[in-house]
This record gives sequence, structure tokens and C-alpha cells, in this order.
Amino acid sequence: MASPQHVRAAPLARALRTRVAASVSATSPVTSRRALLGLSEPELRQLAVDLGQQSYRGKQLHDLLYKSKAKQIQEFSYVPKVFREALVGAGWSVGRSPVHHAVTASDGTTKILLKLEDNRLIETVGIPVNDDKSSSRLTACVSSQVGCPLRCSFCATGKGGFARNLHAHEIVEQVLVIEEIFRGTPMLKQGTENWAKDDNNLHSRCSQHDKMLASHKLQSTLAVSLHAPNQKLRETIVPSAKSYPLGALMDDCKNYFLETGRRVSFEYTLLAGINDTKEHAEELAELLHTCGGGYHVNLIPYNPIQGSEYKRPYRKVIQAFVDALEARKITTSVRQTRGLDANAACGQLRNEFQKNPLLESSPSSPQSEPNLVPA
Ligand code: SF4
Repeated sequence: MASPQHVRAAPLARALRTRVAASVSATSPVTSRRALLGLSEPELRQLAVDLGQQSYRGKQLHDLLYKSKAKQIQEFSYVPKVFREALVGAGWSVGRSPVHHAVTASDGTTKILLKLEDNRLIETVGIPVNDDKSSSRLTACVSSQVGCPLRCSFCATGKGGFARNLHAHEIVEQVLVIEEIFRGTPMLKQGTENWAKDDNNLHSRCSQHDKMLASHKLQSTLAVSLHAPNQKLRETIVPSAKSYPLGALMDDCKNYFLETGRRVSFEYTLLAGINDTKEHAEELAELLHTCGGGYHVNLIPYNPIQGSEYKRPYRKVIQAFVDALEARKITTSVRQTRGLDANAACGQLRNEFQKNPLLESSPSSPQSEPNLVPA
């Protein structure tokens, strides 16, 4: 991952150094083989040349991986046997993981648990949406880490701990598996390559991501987990807020808007009696007005999870919150809850199958074996 490009204030820079160090240890190699999935066409062409083949063989690998969606090198039917053997001999594999469990809710939302090479489970979700009679689409919600280090107090993923960042192939394969599961349904008219191009929502968890994304001028909507209108309350809900204060976060969001011209979406989970009053909405509106013009609030009524004391607010409380924001000219949406009968909240399904909390992987400490419940 690239380093942030901009000069930062000292306290923020210190916080970032800590995070970058954590991120390096979290990306320790855990796979014994090298994965083809996630490599670009130029990289695959170079690999072919390195293994004594002509460059166009790399283009064939690209088609086999992303169009034919071959799962094993043995399925690479139209490349020469000698090339297949050279790939295997050099330690390459396709890099696909088995599905550990999948569950489909009555509204079609499908949650899939993939079992990675180190036995960790990750959750990925396909959400079919019918916009109107003539148009439908499929949203893929993919994981970028095993667990999450930020440990937001209301979140099942946060409660499950954190092990490591995912490798590129472990992210790409989530899109492929969703595509396979929904193959043949009307919303899947586009191929996987188009999905990759259409990936226009990025959920940011920390400052280095915000700055890096802004510097690349990506045409993506940045979604920031806010959940509170002031620093004190935010620290009780999002522990990481201590190292990334609200003022610095809002400055980075303003810069993101100025650099990319794309508005920032502020995700705000509504927790009954905690952050859902009219006063909280007014304070939130005031905070956002300091951020310039490019913002939107996405309210997420809390999805209850096992063992949590938080509750979802009543509908009239949610509406009052929306009204208070809109009266102050803040564009607001309320996220529709999907897949309630498939453990809707992020991380809920994985926690059913992975009982002991994740521990962060590092090169020096062997990984503890996850305690998996058989599917
Ligand atoms: S809400 Fe998002 S950032 Fe917070 S613990 Fe859950 S996954 Fe991590």
C-alpha cells in the first residue's frame, strides 16, 4: 500500500506512523503459494516471459482467470502443458478459497463465508436490488481485512478481533464467488471486469487511507464511519477516534472533496438513546457545515447483534433525526436493512463460525489456530 503523500501535523503524523507499523505487521505472508488471481495483464505477460513463454500467453492467463474463472491451473486448457507445469513448479496457484458456508435471506441477500489458506474466515455479501420495474443491480460488499482493528463497540466485526490485511487475490476472489452464486440472475448482465471498474464506494477506516485516496484523485465516493457528532461521544463508540481526532478527520474529508470533487458520505449508525436525539442531529449538521459543501449523511438504524446492549431506535425517532438534518440542508438517506434473516450485521455470520477472537498475525509469532465451527 502506498504511503500518504501529504505533510501532516505532528500528532497526526505520530498516530499514522503507529498505524503504518501495525499495517506492515498485519500483512505478513500467510500463504505458502503465489496466487495468480489479482495480477494485471501486464504482470501476467511478464510472468509468461519469465517462464520462457511468449508474452501473449500472459493474455491467455488473464482471460482464463477473469473471463473463464478457472479455479485451478489444471483447468488452463488452452495453454501448453509445459507452461502449466512451469507455473506449478514455480509455486503458483490460482488462489481461490473454498466456500465454508453460505446463507440466503428471503430478500435474496446472500452472505458467504470463505475459508482462507490460514483457516481464517472472511465474510462477503451479495445484495440484489430492484431499482424499478426495468432495472436491477447487484451490490457486492467485500472484505479487505480478516476482522477489523478498530473495534467499534456496536459492530460484530469489531468484536471478533483482527488478524491481518487480505492479499489482493483474497479480495478479487470474493467478487468472483458472488458472481458465480448470482450467475443467471437478471441483475448480472455485466462481467466481473465491469464490476471492478464500477467499484465507486470506498469505506475508509483511517487517515492514511483518506489521504492516499485523495492524492490518487480516484472518482470514488468516500464513506467515513462517523457515528457521533463530537469527539467525546465518538471515542466511546469508535475507540480508534482517540488516535484520529474528529478535527483532523473533518479536515481530511474537506481535502478529499477539494481534490476529487466527489462528495463524502458520512456513515452514522443510529443507536437508541446514545446518539439519536434531535440535539445530536443539530450538532452533526453544525459539524458538517464546517466541512465545506460536499457531504451526505447515510443513517444506518442499528442491526442488533448478540451480546450487545445497544438497541435500534424507534421509527419516529429516526424520522425526527432525518427531519432535523434536512431542515439544516444536509442531504440524508436512511439505509434499508437487508438480509435480516441471514445475520444482517457485518461480521455476525462469521462470528457464528469462528468462536475465539482473532489475534493479529505477525512474522515472529505463530498464528493461533482459529476455533472453527464445522459448516
Ligand atoms: S463499524 Fe466498520 S470500522 Fe467499526 S469495527 Fe465494524 S467494520 Fe471496523
